[in-house]
Amino acid sequence: MNTRRDFLQKLTGSAIAFSLLPDAGQAADKADKASTPPYDGPVLRVAIMGLGGYGTRVAEAMQSCTKAKLVGVISGTPSKVKAWQSKYNIPDKNCYNYENFDNIKNNKDIDAVYVITPNGLHKDQVIRVAKAGKHAISEKPMAINAAEGQEMIDACKKAGVKLLVGYRMHFEPKTLEVIRMRKAGEFGKILFFQGLSGFIIGDPTQWRLNKQLSGGGSMMDIGIYSINGSRYMTGEDPIWVTAQETKTNPVKFKEGVDETIQFQLGFPGGAVASCLSTYSMNYLDRFFLNGEKGFAELMPSTGYGPIRGHTNKGELTQPATTHQTVQMDEFSGILLEGKQPPVPVDGEEALKDLKIIDAIYLAVKTGQKVALSL
Ligand code: NDP
Repeated sequence: MNTRRDFLQKLTGSAIAFSLLPDAGQAADKADKASTPPYDGPVLRVAIMGLGGYGTRVAEAMQSCTKAKLVGVISGTPSKVKAWQSKYNIPDKNCYNYENFDNIKNNKDIDAVYVITPNGLHKDQVIRVAKAGKHAISEKPMAINAAEGQEMIDACKKAGVKLLVGYRMHFEPKTLEVIRMRKAGEFGKILFFQGLSGFIIGDPTQWRLNKQLSGGGSMMDIGIYSINGSRYMTGEDPIWVTAQETKTNPVKFKEGVDETIQFQLGFPGGAVASCLSTYSMNYLDRFFLNGEKGFAELMPSTGYGPIRGHTNKGELTQPATTHQTVQMDEFSGILLEGKQPPVPVDGEEALKDLKIIDAIYLAVKTGQKVALSL
């Protein structure tokens, strides 16, 4: 019998624990739009590559975008292409598969390709997109190690296209308010960050548990939120890392696929971060930032929303948004108008997270503290 628990455990999205909450974001987005004049600036025309769980979520969210539009697809599954074509009114000439998508270079109606496939495929696919002369957007993690990430950055530079990564939290209002407060000194000197990121992963046959396609385990998928969060919450890049791995199920979590890792990061200003990444516990989606004069807590901190939080000064009341809608509108501004995001979302930003992940895996392997130079 299929129970609700079975259903939840089969879902594989990173933000699973909170993805089923009612979407207060859509209401806030609509209310916001009603009060602003119609947009008549440039529109980013996007093709999504990989029509899976997250690609579907992004496509739906893009229906509410004003500055970005879904115009094309790249997929290995013809039946999905057909369904998306009729749902989103996508012409045949904007549909590709993994063999022929290099031809997108001849398509003047597509500006950018959003790669939403398994992690281990991002590098080659982004490089092909760059060579086709289109801006590349990659899902997180940008690649499965820093060397691959660097190759992607170099290829995009060489091709003269931009590379962005789907760091949707970098546009989330409560997150941005905590960053504003920290920058304004309202928490005083920052001394501690805690990041908890995890959910119980279901189906043992899925690509997330296949090292070649995932690049690792929970760290690549969900732990990366605590890594990236530790940086935008403290406002610094770490200079050392220590890490410890525990595995309760070596059959499900094979060699090279981490089930649970606890890690610590040291920052130049003296702050430390203590973080947990796991595929074996639910309800772990919490950031806590502590300074000499105050604190901020976000919980949930990185799920699809609504994000909730408070500080020593009270509740955070910024509006809930649909992260993917805001992200794609903001990406349009960055790619077409050269706008600067509040927190970086480019390949260099993602490369820092990959260097930290490499160092965490090395620290687990050696049991040693690993120095970082980002
Ligand atoms: P899914 O398994 O749901 O979808 C991945 C899709 O990639 C497939 O449906 C398929 O689409 C395509 N694909 C191409 N080659 C393969 C292959 N060898 N094996 C499996 N699928 C393949 O994964 P998600 O959508 O959950 O994740 C995709 C990416 O998005 C990952 O990098 C993940 O980390 C990221 N993600 C980010 C989230 C965020 O909040 N920012 C949330 C969830 C995921 P098709 O049939 O069209 O070819």
